[in-house]
Amino acid sequence: MSHASISSSFVTAFGKLSANSDDYVPDIVRLILSEARKGRASDVHLVPSESALMMQWRVDGVLHAVAGFDRELATRIIARLKVISGLLTYRTDVPQEGRVAREYSPTEVRVTTFPTLHGEKAAIRMFAENDQLQRLGQLGLPDTVRSRLLEHLGATAGVILLTGPSGSGKTTTVYACLREIIAQSGGSRCIMTLEDPIEVAVDGATQSQVRPSAGFDLATGLRSLMRQDPDVILVGEIRDPQTAEAAFQAALTGHLVLTTFHAGSAAEALTRLLDMQIEPYLLRSGLRSVICQRLLRRRCEHCGSPPRTEPGLNEKCEKVAEGSDKFRLAETPGSTCGHCGSTGYSGRMVLAEMLDPDLPEIARGILQRTDARQLATLAESAGMETLQQAAGKAIAAGLTSHEEVLRVLGSLK
Ligand SMILES: [Zn+2]
Repeated sequence: MSHASISSSFVTAFGKLSANSDDYVPDIVRLILSEARKGRASDVHLVPSESALMMQWRVDGVLHAVAGFDRELATRIIARLKVISGLLTYRTDVPQEGRVAREYSPTEVRVTTFPTLHGEKAAIRMFAENDQLQRLGQLGLPDTVRSRLLEHLGATAGVILLTGPSGSGKTTTVYACLREIIAQSGGSRCIMTLEDPIEVAVDGATQSQVRPSAGFDLATGLRSLMRQDPDVILVGEIRDPQTAEAAFQAALTGHLVLTTFHAGSAAEALTRLLDMQIEPYLLRSGLRSVICQRLLRRRCEHCGSPPRTEPGLNEKCEKVAEGSDKFRLAETPGSTCGHCGSTGYSGRMVLAEMLDPDLPEIARGILQRTDARQLATLAESAGMETLQQAAGKAIAAGLTSHEEVLRVLGSLK
């Protein structure tokens, strides 16, 4: 491989396309989708500027400039993408959402467009393949968290809360938990889900997609679901007090409830639920465990040292856009490593902290509506390994870098 940057394979394939072909633009779009999937991108951004259409890929949670297409191609590429996603090509003044038809992509791909100063921007979300069966053991959770979580998954009642900011891998963990329960129970437990949207089809679970516009939202759906005699319920995400209340009621009536919740730490998740008017006693008796997680990029085993700083993405894009001749490569100068696209990182690992609401100090803290900071201190003194401590261990073990921890956690105490 001559160029070992993230974009190298795309550049090579792009160079082979014939600009005179009638299928030139369809071929470019096909190539964008197939190469992004090959490059493990979770999202592709096509961003119009005055002089070019910039393409960026999010790989392992970080956005990389990949290429700049000539301005003249910009509207045609976006229009083609809209055609295969069933969007209205003549409407360029309103945001639109669609999914790429299966004949153009073997896996689930969603496209959203958004009108901007220089034309429509498109964001493409690439969903993982269904056969990517990730079990808990493959996530890289800390041993103590994994073994405790496995115990909790065997329980018959209570809420298991997976928390973290967006992009922290909560959904991946929740699906892994679901597969673990299915494997453990061997079909002896009725497992149902309520999701918005269903991101991955899981064999052995009965999955439902809510339709809020038809009055079938998470909260009302959950109440109806109770009459379906489930043992285990996955609620995609708690976003409002009604869903939170319904989830805790389900837990108290003998159901194991798995769900995700947006919060920066395990302690913050507790106080945010209290802020949603969940009664402290309900939280105290319904909650089985709170896990808060982050994803860190793993250090590449082959080239070892990641770059100390990521060059400014915008600066890099501008450079690519300048004097753009149909297409220019946004490459990282310097060392070349084919294993990680010269980013210094390959794959990701989960950092996690697990708060046990049954600890007497925590239980008391919940009932007294203690604030997040105080709860975190209580949990730490009761022996909880915090995200910060787990990050320190990961750096010491050479699994990731100090820079990466700073990027994800903001600081390292
Ligand atoms: Zn490498």
